[in-house]
Amino acid sequence: ELADIGVTGLAVMGANLARNAARKGFRVALNNRSNEKTETLLAEHGQEGSFIGSSTIAEFVASLAKPRVVLIMVKAGKPVDIVIDELLEHMEPEDIIVDGGNSLFEDTRRREKTVSDRGLHFVGMGVSGGEEGALEGPSMMPGGTRQAWDRIAPIFTKMAVSVDGLPCCALMGPDGAGHYVKMVHNGIEYADMQLITEAYDLLRTVYGRSAAEIGEIFAGWKTGDLDSYLIEITAAVLAKQDPQGKGALVDMIRDEAEQKGTGRWTAQSALELGVPITAITEAVFARALSGRPEQRRAAEATLGGMRGGTLEAGQAEIDKIRDALYASKIVAYAQGFEQLTVASKQYNWDLDLGLIATIWRGGCIIRASFLDRIREGYASHPDAQSLLLQEYFSAAVLKAEQAWRDVVVVAVQHGVAVPAFASSLAYYDGLRRTRGPANLLQGLRDYFGAHTYRRTDQEGSFHIRWSQDGTEVKS
Ligand code: NDP
Repeated sequence: ELADIGVTGLAVMGANLARNAARKGFRVALNNRSNEKTETLLAEHGQEGSFIGSSTIAEFVASLAKPRVVLIMVKAGKPVDIVIDELLEHMEPEDIIVDGGNSLFEDTRRREKTVSDRGLHFVGMGVSGGEEGALEGPSMMPGGTRQAWDRIAPIFTKMAVSVDGLPCCALMGPDGAGHYVKMVHNGIEYADMQLITEAYDLLRTVYGRSAAEIGEIFAGWKTGDLDSYLIEITAAVLAKQDPQGKGALVDMIRDEAEQKGTGRWTAQSALELGVPITAITEAVFARALSGRPEQRRAAEATLGGMRGGTLEAGQAEIDKIRDALYASKIVAYAQGFEQLTVASKQYNWDLDLGLIATIWRGGCIIRASFLDRIREGYASHPDAQSLLLQEYFSAAVLKAEQAWRDVVVVAVQHGVAVPAFASSLAYYDGLRRTRGPANLLQGLRDYFGAHTYRRTDQEGSFHIRWSQDGTEVKS
């Protein structure tokens, strides 16, 4: 009997997705560049379902029912192109190649073209939820043709986790849409984690609370508006004792963040598209600064560390930090969704923002009850200009606004950096201005570069002959 789906690339993600599919009752063909991983998977988990092992791509493709569905889970980048080329030698028109790795959406657009030119379908699918999600039910964001989706939907919607009966897997749009949505998901994840880190830093550094105490504070936030996976695991990490017996584990971990690049990609794309995503970008920069410990040590020695002594944190201060975190988080998500809106227009993807919020509710790292509010918001206002203008969120930020300002003031006075809190607030304040200060910018640009300006009272472009008689000319 032939397989329903084939998985090539059996490192942690591929192996777990293959097992997930088999456990859901699908017959799964297995392949990996080196045979060892295939054999290990069959030996250790072969009894979990129906698998067909293979040692060559030809054998692998031959073991699949037509039209064939192959999921590629190899290392992102060049390996994906190598595997696609190999598959194309053996697969036939109407077959479907799905790339489930963290590929850059532009690569996906290019690959989609190559594969569809050969008469096959290409689906670029973002997979979120890490190793555990892959096995137990991830959130999956496929991009491709409707025809390909109709064929693969019965398999992938069954593998994905479901929330309130809705699978966290749906067609996002054509070509690179799925990988783009996954990229922005990761960008939002960067911002979310940075905001959590800033709340922790204030409590730890300015208010002198212990890691365990802060863990309890976060545990208390799990039940309110902030209820989310990231808040839950923050409480767990802060509560963890050092297995080597030196107090709280978090106090023993080096403060140098690493990154794989999806946050950077999100920021790069936002810069290309001209979308202000301050929280995500600050999160990427904060990781970069954290990665320069020598420079930071030298700067602290020369310029001094925190200003002033520690403060007492009563319930009022803790509540304010929670409110600041929530308001900043709303801004970060509003910015991420705006980026999706702009990209959707730019690439003709017709993204459904409510659907995106729906499939992010389970399986993925940013899963949160908050996403239900976003989903409801887009259901009632599909064309809202910003998440911040949807009733629920505008009421929430207005309610948190004073606390948010107070928290940023305390941070600034104590010299403790809160780039994501502060830049979210700056974005919010910039957004609430019918008339901002860019009039002066335009004046300056006209002065040194004759870039012209537009007037508030008349149509057309104007220029001042700055270095001549100072008169205004209409151009
Ligand atoms: P890795 O990214 O570590 O990739 C290892 C796999 O790629 C192995 O199966 C390896 O084969 C194969 N491979 C590497 N180079 C080639 C090549 N030139 N030709 C054929 N096969 C090759 O595996 P992961 O499981 O961690 O991730 C897979 C994908 O999923 C990546 O794109 C990753 O970014 C993404 N992802 C990962 C998550 C995670 O939590 N790890 C979460 C979500 C997405 P061999 O055994 O022969 O070396």
